[in-house]
Amino acid sequence: MEGAEVLGRLNWQFGEVVATQRETDRAKSITLSVPDWSGHRAGQHVDLRLTSEDGYHAERSYSIASAPEDRPRVTITVERIETGEVSPYLTDELHEGDKLELRGPIGGYFVWEASMGGPLFLVAGGSGIVPLMAMIRHQAASGSSVPTRLLYSSRSLAEIIYRDELERLAQGSKRLEVRHTLTREAPTGWAGYHRRVDADMLREVAWPADKHPLTYICGPTPFVEATATFLAALGYASQRIKTERFGPSG
Ligand SMILES: Cc1cc2nc3c(=O)[nH]c(=O)nc-3n(C[C@H](O)[C@H](O)[C@H](O)COP(=O)(O)OP(=O)(O)OC[C@H]3O[C@@H](n4cnc5c(N)ncnc54)[C@H](O)[C@@H]3O)c2cc1C
Repeated sequence: MEGAEVLGRLNWQFGEVVATQRETDRAKSITLSVPDWSGHRAGQHVDLRLTSEDGYHAERSYSIASAPEDRPRVTITVERIETGEVSPYLTDELHEGDKLELRGPIGGYFVWEASMGGPLFLVAGGSGIVPLMAMIRHQAASGSSVPTRLLYSSRSLAEIIYRDELERLAQGSKRLEVRHTLTREAPTGWAGYHRRVDADMLREVAWPADKHPLTYICGPTPFVEATATFLAALGYASQRIKTERFGPSG
């Protein structure tokens, strides 16, 4: 990579909010138009910087939810943490036409490009779905035939982010399979899992280890660590397991 390109990514720039979409009661997608956007790879994130009138800065990282093919638009999805300093502003107060300061794309490890092959095994906890959704959207937009399985853990049906889009993409698809687990409430007649991700669930859903899957796990730190440990016990090679931790468990 050229030095100037790296420096360019580290510069703060402004993006304009061109669309917002409520995904769940707590999560909102925010689409930014970023004129000088250099492009990204699925799985990367941006840093946002908010500045108050007295000059106080707050910076937070947000994964990019959109496919690289959407350039120069960049979508993030933010889940509101009730006691949080930044996320309630982004989900409740930001509107179309507002400007946001960002830099990126950041991260070269937790990325997937169609040329990296698979099969892919994606495991998401809560808003950890966001960078994995960028991979799924990239898979669809690039016409990749890499077989992909997603196991997605949410608290309840209402908290599943991108539920309709995931269903649409998986329906009739030979390359994408989506399985959900709900850790708190499950509606009557729910056909998915209703517990935390555990070894038995992974044994049923994950690719057999001898298929050498490429695995991406994202979510709260304890979720990521437990899932990686279960997969290692199933014989998954640690160098094919990539993890991203978003922060404390909600
Ligand atoms: C690489 C990376 C990518 C990320 N991508 C996303 C994303 O796509 N969408 C998204 O919603 N968030 C994402 N996060 C988390 C995000 O950066 C913030 O930490 C989160 O929005 C909370 O910020 P806040 O200012 O509202 O809360 P803060 O004021 O920082 O924290 C308030 C309270 O919430 C707790 N807390 C902080 N972060 C979390 C969390 N993630 N889960 C539960 N409790 C938390 C803190 O311990 C504290 O008690 C990502 C984090 C990283 C490191």
